Amino acid sequence: MERYPTKQIHVGGVAVGGGAPISVQSMTFSRTADVAETVEQIKRLHFAGCDIVRVAVPEEEDARALKEIKERSPLPIVADIHFNYRLALIAAEVVDCIRINPGNIGSKKRIREVVKACKERSIPIRIGINAGSLEREIEGRYGATAEAMVQSALYHIRLLEDLDFTDIKVSMKASDVPRTVEAYRKLRPLVPYPFHLGVTEAGTLFHGTIKSAIGIGSLLLDGIGDTLRVSLTGELEKEVEVGRAILKDAGVAREGLNIISCPTCGRIEADLVKAVAEVEERTRHIKTPLTVSVMGCAVNAIGEAKHADVAIAYGKGSGLIMVEGEVVAKLPEEELVDRFLHEVEKMARKRSSGK
Ligand code: SF4
Repeated sequence: MERYPTKQIHVGGVAVGGGAPISVQSMTFSRTADVAETVEQIKRLHFAGCDIVRVAVPEEEDARALKEIKERSPLPIVADIHFNYRLALIAAEVVDCIRINPGNIGSKKRIREVVKACKERSIPIRIGINAGSLEREIEGRYGATAEAMVQSALYHIRLLEDLDFTDIKVSMKASDVPRTVEAYRKLRPLVPYPFHLGVTEAGTLFHGTIKSAIGIGSLLLDGIGDTLRVSLTGELEKEVEVGRAILKDAGVAREGLNIISCPTCGRIEADLVKAVAEVEERTRHIKTPLTVSVMGCAVNAIGEAKHADVAIAYGKGSGLIMVEGEVVAKLPEEELVDRFLHEVEKMARKRSSGK
């Protein structure tokens, strides 16, 4: 699918927009002033595959902690600031991006100071519109609608453009999917800036994953979106895991295994649930894009296996291993997963070396 062309900005070493790979972001939930805990969480996110991390900066002690956090962080850092331009000025000296809405800073002079600080270090500003905190005048006119979110975004964007600042990315998040998707779709043709996608306060792992998959997934399928964050209550690595899975399943990132497994039914011939869980666990490290299938009986297994790079087709007490549609082994059930994983590793090496 074609992606909307957008301006490219850089958050540290990560390009956002302009055809760059869609990056996955997350946010720490430690008190930012607690440097040790914040760095620990950033490292966990890095290990999970996060590209950019955001930290909250509500107080001056948080802003002052950013220098050390930045020095110890393996990821580019976005400082999340509301209203307080002084915190933005402290943060802008060290971080890779500021999230602040210029219309909330106060006087023109203050906005100019923040813009100047960002220009001096060539760091972008993320405008983050949230349906729960729209400008009173805009909400009074449009209600808390998608149109109001668009008007709010345009208002903040113009404030920056008036100061000749265009290293901008934009997010427009509501806690429900339809408004979020509508807002992004409406704004997309109106501005050239990259979009940060997300459904805010999406909820627990279960509901947050569903909301994010529908909301972010719909936009990605429209070719909209340059970076994303999945918001999940009390989760850290899972936000990244779900974000990466959405990119993969929306077909915009080819990375790691696409595992096709049957839902199981009364024809099942083996403990498929256990086998799929083991396959998923033992292939997490593989980044080469491969399609594999693990099917519980002969009914659909051969058909799926023909389109898979590596497949297991279970039968009664035994099963087939297939590679690129060809049967390479018939083995007892207890030997199938190990042989399957051996073939997957072999295929991943072959593909990554380009043979
Ligand atoms: S592959 Fe076999 S066991 Fe699995 S759902 Fe289909 S018919 Fe049932």
